[in-house]
Amino acid sequence: MTAAKIAADLTRLLGPHKVLSTIGERLSYRYDAIQMGVTPLVVVLPESTADVVAAVKAAKAAGLPIVGRGAASGLSGGAAPSAPAVVISFTRMTRLSIDAARREATAQAGVVTLQVSEAAKPHGLIYPPDPASFRTSTIGGNLGENAGGPMCFKYGVSGDYVKRLEFVDENGDLHHLTRDAYDLAGLLIGSEGTLGLITEATLRLTTPPRFTRTLMSSFPDVGAAAEAVSQAIAAGAVPAKLEFMDRACTNAVEDYLKIGLPREAGALLLVDTDGDDLETVETELELVERACMQQGGTVRRAATDADAAQLWRARRSVSPALGRIRPQRMNEDIVVPRSVLSEVVREIEALGLASGFHVVQFGHIGDGNLHPNILFDPKTESEDGVHALAHDIAMVALRHGGVLSGEHGIGSMKLPFMKEALDAGTLDVLWDVKHALDPLERLNPGKVLPAVDLPALTGAAHA
Ligand SMILES: Cc1cc2nc3c(=O)[nH]c(=O)nc-3n(C[C@H](O)[C@H](O)[C@H](O)COP(=O)(O)OP(=O)(O)OC[C@H]3O[C@@H](n4cnc5c(N)ncnc54)[C@H](O)[C@@H]3O)c2cc1C
Repeated sequence: MTAAKIAADLTRLLGPHKVLSTIGERLSYRYDAIQMGVTPLVVVLPESTADVVAAVKAAKAAGLPIVGRGAASGLSGGAAPSAPAVVISFTRMTRLSIDAARREATAQAGVVTLQVSEAAKPHGLIYPPDPASFRTSTIGGNLGENAGGPMCFKYGVSGDYVKRLEFVDENGDLHHLTRDAYDLAGLLIGSEGTLGLITEATLRLTTPPRFTRTLMSSFPDVGAAAEAVSQAIAAGAVPAKLEFMDRACTNAVEDYLKIGLPREAGALLLVDTDGDDLETVETELELVERACMQQGGTVRRAATDADAAQLWRARRSVSPALGRIRPQRMNEDIVVPRSVLSEVVREIEALGLASGFHVVQFGHIGDGNLHPNILFDPKTESEDGVHALAHDIAMVALRHGGVLSGEHGIGSMKLPFMKEALDAGTLDVLWDVKHALDPLERLNPGKVLPAVDLPALTGAAHA
């Protein structure tokens, strides 16, 4: 079917203001924050679940693939179509309501993450999942990727806050899920739009902690920081936030902010403890402080809220700081056991040096979630080289018993690595699950699961 024909069909069904069909309009829907994909045949801007149902049925009748899209802030190519497709962009589905008595927010897929927190605030409630992209990312995209953030170590990831989910399947049928037997909602969460389209979610809210305490510690090396974190946790501390930056990252931020960060430190750790009982919050901070000092760390405690905000400014400024070094970056996302973090950071540092690319590393150290960033200029540096280095970094994670993604997903970017991460039998089972919900492989094709005949990328195959 041609782009013009499906656009005409959808326009007839939904009205012209919900359909984008000119090439100029469609071009900007072919990418996410990291990957350029294929220009969509047509873009639908539904305003209700009924619009989504109608669009999915029309795409099915035309035999066309469907790609769900939130704010396109994804970092694995999830929302960038791999084939000519009908893109369903949820940005107009923004209805949001709070039920304070039930401590729930009900959000349509296009609600921006920050808006849930802001709507909950007047009721004395918070929505803890806090991806750094929370000012732009949507609830649909957060659930599509099961997004995390600095607060995940203590509070959990986006999926942990879902009580009920509404989704449209590949047939255009509508379903309402709760979190009981078979937990189908859990299967949809993190499935990157490959099993169904989430139209609405009821999210658990909680009360904010009354007290928060903050410290920053610098260490001679990453191993000492990781060991301090393990020691503090073993001693009974459950910090709310545990963020780390390597030397290259610290220097990039210091070049940008000039706030006196220790340039010579091998690792910088930022920690929050929080809770409703001040004594416990302070005791936990002391446990962290003691562990840091025992591992050779130099500790700076925040004396006031303003001081704490200033310390966190360093971590919040990573993105703009890196943007000054090179115009583009590949933001990798791996998870490794905390015990091997220092070895992993060293190996990735060495890979960066050998490749000639500027590589910096930071992440959520409590969960062993590391974000090695490859900074590059596409005008002067090879993008194939960037992808080869991203593959090598992923293989470091696998060699050390880690996984390919902590929170950014597999998308198209890491799809070829899945053959190295999972054995053939396991991939077969995942394909069986996919086919149970999407027998014709029309939902976000070319994402997450590699075709059975796609060769693994190891060694010479990748070169
Ligand atoms: C500067 C920056 C910082 C970031 N920081 C973090 C971070 O701290 N933690 C983190 O986890 N991520 C982070 N990300 C990545 C990204 O923001 C998250 O993955 C986010 O959840 C994507 O939301 P989105 O609305 O942009 O989704 P999109 O990018 O539009 O889509 C993401 C995936 O979800 C699918 N999808 C979208 N909507 C739906 C729907 N309604 N139903 C089914 N599937 C759907 C898409 O098909 C795609 O596969 C960051 C990105 C940037 C650019």
